[in-house]
Order: sequence, then structure tokens, then C-alpha cells
Amino acid sequence: MTALNSINRLLLLGLILIPALYRAPVARAQVDGPVYVVLEGDSYWAIADTFKVTIPDLLAANGFSANHIINPGDRLVIPGYEGIHGTLSIQTVELGETLATLALRTGVPADTLLRLNRLVNPERLYAGQAMIILEPEEGAADVTRWETGRMLSLSAGTPLVALAAAEGKNPWELTSLNTLSSQADQFSGQSLLTVGGDFPLRAWPTPLEDIQFRSLPLVQGKTGEIFITLSGDAQVAGTLGDWNLNFRELGERLATLQGIHATAAPRTYPFQVTVTLADGRTRVFEQDVLLISGNYPQEADLKVPPETLDPQTIAAESEQTRAIIAPFSEERFWDGLFLAPASKGITSLFGNRRSYNNGAYYSFHAGVDYAGRDKDPFYAPAAGRVIFTGPLTICGNATIIDHGWGVYSRYCHQHTIKVQVGEMVQPGQEIGLIGRTGRVDGPHLHWEIWVGGVQVNPLQWLEEVFP
Ligand SMILES: [Zn+2]
Repeated sequence: MTALNSINRLLLLGLILIPALYRAPVARAQVDGPVYVVLEGDSYWAIADTFKVTIPDLLAANGFSANHIINPGDRLVIPGYEGIHGTLSIQTVELGETLATLALRTGVPADTLLRLNRLVNPERLYAGQAMIILEPEEGAADVTRWETGRMLSLSAGTPLVALAAAEGKNPWELTSLNTLSSQADQFSGQSLLTVGGDFPLRAWPTPLEDIQFRSLPLVQGKTGEIFITLSGDAQVAGTLGDWNLNFRELGERLATLQGIHATAAPRTYPFQVTVTLADGRTRVFEQDVLLISGNYPQEADLKVPPETLDPQTIAAESEQTRAIIAPFSEERFWDGLFLAPASKGITSLFGNRRSYNNGAYYSFHAGVDYAGRDKDPFYAPAAGRVIFTGPLTICGNATIIDHGWGVYSRYCHQHTIKVQVGEMVQPGQEIGLIGRTGRVDGPHLHWEIWVGGVQVNPLQWLEEVFP
């Protein structure tokens, strides 16, 4: 029995038994609709925002006065969804999910998902998008949910029956899974979903079997990592926003690393994978992914030599470094975690927004600073090949190491450089002495990691193994 029914019955009893003495007060649940169970930390504002209703409508739907307080576990009727019954909750759209796969995974029909989420563009769900879903009412018929499955790519003119036979499936099952009205239905997009198998139910075109990001949403300044599983031989190319992705074999899968810029605008970015089959045909998977802020703080203003702030010098040095770290070395020299290059403690973190000599906060800290005295030694964090040594205006005496696969590390402000271009270095090897050359306000080691042409937070490489 629902709360609504029990209240109606109580009211009805009241009216029958004591009509003259008792006038029914306005009770809760005045509106027909699904229920949301209040969570820890919820507020009227957050709930109204989630379900795109106004707070007065929310209060009215539940018969609450303006000063009514909600508590975790309270059941609120959400207005605007008349005729829909059950308990509402929020789930995140995973990469590769479409409205159709989400309907199969959650057991909520696609048209109900459309209505619940008031979707403007149901063809473009993005990875990381919050979706309102519905748990059925107690006592409702069991719904079927599918965790595994895949998308079948159809050649034009292939009858569904033939496809079903090739897949060892019952044609009726394909018809019903894809909510087609008949087996002769015209398939939009030339694709059908089938359930079962070893991989999460996603709408990858064959021969893609799985695509996984190390983590989504993407975060400013972190290293992005993507794995692809294929069911057959194919060439793979990809882009993430404006970045070209270099996929390389890693065991049974393909992998790529891509730095996410520390000042990339928090929003969705297009992610695209193009698979080229042996016969030259191509299949494309495309979906937007969410990028969120790294919440980097502003540092106190720094005092540095004015000549190191000249925009032309900064641009020229940045160009020079970009050119040095542009090549993609096929060999991956490192293995496992990186080691910290110095031991005296960190004085400034990656990503901090910076101003120099009372200027605006237009720049960010592109590396990690380690404390040190003049001539303290520092060490290679991982294996690699030295590809640059020499003086730079801002970085001072600098060393750049190529670790392979588009991953580079750079060391600035050195007193002494102790390696030579072309030399292979090993993790823990002493490669230089800390100093105060370049744009500094005292001796320290400034350490950067570049991935796919973008500076990232080096500390992530001390805590997580890539790839
Ligand atoms: Zn620094």
C-alpha cells in the first residue's frame, strides 16, 4: 500500500466516522507522482534543481508550509511527473551508454527516461551526465535489467532474421530488446543491441568491445588514460577535444595517455574513436565527456626578476619546449610508479594560480617545487633518455627526459646539469644539482611532467601507475 493510499483511507475513515467534529487538514502527498527519498546533505534547493521544479511547487506537492524542515529518509513527492510511480534516484551515464542501453541497464523504459529527465537532445547523452531513473513501486512486476551486451552493426539491407541467426539469437528477443514494432521494422542508425556476453552493455560499434577511461569525469591538470579492447584486427585513431590520441598495444588492449590542461574550461569535450577495418571500412564511436575543475587555489604573489616576465621571452621558451617534447617515442622506457626526484619537501603544488610582481593571476604553476639548498643533488624519477640540457631564461639550467609514449619530464633552476643529451638514465640516478637559475625567488627544484604535449600534476605519477 502506498503512503498516498493510506492517507486517503485515513481521510476517508475520518470523514465517515466523525464528519461533524473533524475537518480534514491539508495532509502531505497532495499530488500524484513518484517519490524521492531525501539523502544526507540534501536541501530543497538541491532537490528542486535536480528535478527542475520550483521550491513552492515542491512544498505544495507535499502539503508543506514554507518553514517545513526535511530530513534524510523523508519521502517527497516530486511534482510534474503525474502518472509515473516509484522511487526516483540519480545515476551517472557511463561512456558508451545511450538512452537505449540505459533503459536496458536500469529497466526503465526509454520514453519514461525521456520524460523524467526532460531531455532536449536524447541522441547526445554525455559520459558523466546525471540521469534521473526510477525504481519500481513495491509489488510492481519485476523488471529485467541487463548488465552485459553489445551493439550489432548492420550492413544496409541485412534482414533482422539473418542477423539474429548469425548471432545465435531469437529474432523476437532482438525485436523486443530494441523496442521494434516488428521484425520488418526499419532500423535507424543501422544498429541493434543484444544482451549477454563478457562486456558491459554499451553502444560501441563492432569491432570495439570496450573503451575505458582511467577515470571520468576528466579533471584539469590530471593525466587522462584510455584503454580500448577490439574483437578483431583494426587500426584505431582518436581525438579528445583538440588532442590527437596515440593508441599503442598494451597486452590484449590498446592504451593511450593524454594530459588534461590545468586551465581547460570545465565543460563537455568531444571524444571520438575511429576504427579502420582491414577492408578499409571505418566505424566511428563518438560521445562527449565531462571535464571538471581541479579546484586549484591562488598563491600569494611572487617576486621575481622582471626580465623573466617578458611575454616574448615566455612565448619563445614555451615554443622551444613544446618543439622538444613534440615527438612520440614508440618505446616506453618507464615501468611502474615514478620516484620523487628530491626529498626535502614540496613548497609549491602543481596547478596553483599565480601572479608575479603584483600582476594579474594569468598563469598557473606548471610543475611541483621541491625545497633544497644550492648544490643539493636530485634524481631521475624514472627511466628515460635525456633529450635536452642547457640554459633557458625562465627555467634556468634545464634538463628534459623523454620517457617514451609522449611522456616527458623537465627540471629547472639547476646549479649543475650532470647528464648529457642522448644518455639513458635510470630511476634514482643523480642527474643534477639544485640551484637558483632562471625565474626564481630562491633555490629549489621545479619539476614538470608533460603528457601528450600538456603539463600535468607530477604527484599523480608518484601515486598511480601509468599505463
Ligand atoms: Zn615551480
